[in-house]
Amino acid sequence: MPNLSLLFPERRGQAVRAAVLVLVLALYAALMPSSAQAAPPTSTAPTVSQSQVMPHLKALQRIADRNGGNRAHGTQGYAQSVAYVRHALDRAGFHTELRHFSYGGADGYNLIADWPGGDPNHVLLTGAHLDSVAAGPGINDNGSGAAAVLTTALQVAKAGLKPARHLRFAWWGAEELGLIGSADYVRGLSADDRKAIDLYLNLDQAGSKNTKQWLVVNDAAHGESAAFQAFQAWFAARGIATFDIGVGGSDHESFGNAGIPSSGFSTGISDCIHNACDNLANVDPVTETTSTNALIGVVWQLAATARS
Ligand SMILES: [Zn+2]
Repeated sequence: MPNLSLLFPERRGQAVRAAVLVLVLALYAALMPSSAQAAPPTSTAPTVSQSQVMPHLKALQRIADRNGGNRAHGTQGYAQSVAYVRHALDRAGFHTELRHFSYGGADGYNLIADWPGGDPNHVLLTGAHLDSVAAGPGINDNGSGAAAVLTTALQVAKAGLKPARHLRFAWWGAEELGLIGSADYVRGLSADDRKAIDLYLNLDQAGSKNTKQWLVVNDAAHGESAAFQAFQAWFAARGIATFDIGVGGSDHESFGNAGIPSSGFSTGISDCIHNACDNLANVDPVTETTSTNALIGVVWQLAATARS
């Protein structure tokens, strides 16, 4: 506001001052750009620390340890992984659902969690596979992605986020056997359900050691750019190098096959992939936390914008 005292010599009366003040305020409001009058309600994305992410990985390691060293499809290790994630989501206020499928003579499950609210015709779906291979506990591949997605969902709940889009989170089964769970989920979508999913974000291996650059999924083939650019911008703002990769090699491929745009990222394949040494020590907590904060930042940004 300008300094109004300049407009009012002392000899003027109170009533005149009041009238002029009203006039000046009205003029001021009329002349200001509308963006300054009514700033959109912004919700700044939270950031998390290692202590909010790593306990989930420790829990998954413990689950593997007491179930023969793995969390593979059809095992108690996988069932307990699902139960752990679901329990945390239920406590936070999500609507959770298990989607059953059968593969290789064993029962498989996808865990789907919906955050109440948002436009059901514009769904932002974020997911990661929760199964390991039979040879090891799968803590980087892909406890790391599963924990980052869980932490993001819990931050949504903690903030009481009121997104423009509907937010859904998913943990896929039997990815390691050929993207079985995510393919089953996509196959089960009605045409309308499929159309309602604006975008799928995938995380697979989010805490690899010695990560020098984050591999960001660029799905230009399906016209996706918003999420890709949001990830690129998030990393660039922090001086972190990125490298474009296409859709494939993880559950986003199931969505791409159905014409659903996707993005997401990976921190790359570790020496211990699909091995008994893919344990807690195979995850870099700083990388895992950076990945989680990148996901939170981009989910916050995309949640606020309904697709045109
Ligand atoms: Zn994986």
